[in-house]
Amino acid sequence: MSREDRLVKQITPKSEDFSRWYAEIIRKTEMADYTPMKGMMVIRPYGYAVWEQIQRLMDQRIKASGHENAYFPLFIPESFLKKEAEHVQGFAPEVAWVTEGGSEPLEERLAVRPTSEAIIGHMYSKWIKSWRDLPVLINQWANIVRWEKVTRPFLRTTEFLWQEGHTCHATAEEAESETLKILEMYREFCETELAVPVIAGRKSAREKFAGAQMTYAIEALMSDGKALQMGTSHNLGQHFSKAFDIKFEDQNQRLSYVWQTSWGTTTRMIGALVMVHGDDSGLRFPPRVAPIQVVIVPISLGNWKEDVLPTARRIEGEMAAAGLRVRLDGREEFTPGWKFAEWEMRGVPLRVEIGPRDIRENRAVLVRRDASKKEFAGLDVLVGEAKAALDRVQSSLFDQARGFLENNTREVADYERFKDEMENRRGFIRAWWCGDESCEDKIKEETMATIRVLPLVKPAGVEPGRCVCCGRAGLELAYFARAY
Ligand SMILES: [Zn+2]
Repeated sequence: MSREDRLVKQITPKSEDFSRWYAEIIRKTEMADYTPMKGMMVIRPYGYAVWEQIQRLMDQRIKASGHENAYFPLFIPESFLKKEAEHVQGFAPEVAWVTEGGSEPLEERLAVRPTSEAIIGHMYSKWIKSWRDLPVLINQWANIVRWEKVTRPFLRTTEFLWQEGHTCHATAEEAESETLKILEMYREFCETELAVPVIAGRKSAREKFAGAQMTYAIEALMSDGKALQMGTSHNLGQHFSKAFDIKFEDQNQRLSYVWQTSWGTTTRMIGALVMVHGDDSGLRFPPRVAPIQVVIVPISLGNWKEDVLPTARRIEGEMAAAGLRVRLDGREEFTPGWKFAEWEMRGVPLRVEIGPRDIRENRAVLVRRDASKKEFAGLDVLVGEAKAALDRVQSSLFDQARGFLENNTREVADYERFKDEMENRRGFIRAWWCGDESCEDKIKEETMATIRVLPLVKPAGVEPGRCVCCGRAGLELAYFARAY
């Protein structure tokens, strides 16, 4: 076995043990590492670089849609959390508490924010007085702590990073339209930037955010057939404005409570990138969020440092100047084959190989991570060819993921078949539901599947049907899946 084979073969094949494959990839590619504190991970530079791309691209959208960034405190007094009854009940099992400051016991314990509705609601009640103050459109980039029992890097960790939007509006209609606008922004973000197709819809009452009037979400399908929630957008109605007394005087001098929304996406999107696009050789990053988009590997033959390296450096400079995230791997201690395997594992979308013969023929070799066949490109058109190849990688990863989603979404009307599908094939099951929570509970208990979303738009050609669980008239069409 060659050295390069050994490097890759150390990864457990995805089909053999998905969760081991996932854990190994995260660590071997140096995206994240475990710490001595249970459930807490370090996001290493290679993983953090992905987050920076996500942040940049998401932040552009948040601002382009009229929102501004702000920062609120990490600690939230217990009395604030308790103001919205459903909210505190929902979060109580996961809250970390601060009870001492220095060596003094605190008069009131402070929650390490599990989400910021309570502290932000308190501040909004001071800032909002009149219709002229509305709408308030604020987003925060922050860390969050939720004391999770079962954890997994990026997918569920005690501390994670996210953005949380918190808006106030004069009317219920405006708040609903904001909630849906953000849901659409998230959908478009996931599909365009992450190349991850999603299904958008409402949550059932039991799956909604604690304190929300209505939760909307986008859900993606991981390649092991389990669903992952990629983002949520909540219409909070007046639940929090009543609890926190956020009132404004309208244009007829009447006092009303504001209508609110909150919405968020987190570092778990990085976990989705791994689980949707990764293969047996490692990561496959969509170019738009890849930390490194192009790696240049000079072929170390003959006098390569004199013949090849200067050209490789020139290419690197031209690509960087054209805005590409490029890395020249000129390390002498590794063979080209070893480097190919390493950058493949790290998911770099495009590799440029250049050796003495290519220099003579004024060309380089391009190898896409998603399709390992080689293509030649003239050095004078290399930057343009590389950009075009990256575009093709982006759309081919999306098409593959969409094909997987479509092939693993099944229509099921019979409960025995439902159970069999969930046990043996997973994926999304589209089925009718009577709307009764007892059926939702039974399905969860017997199959571990939950209602991921009730789609906003019913797929064409779906006829009304009966509840897959009890056989009564179907009220809602639902997407069921086992989920992370
Ligand atoms: Zn039913």
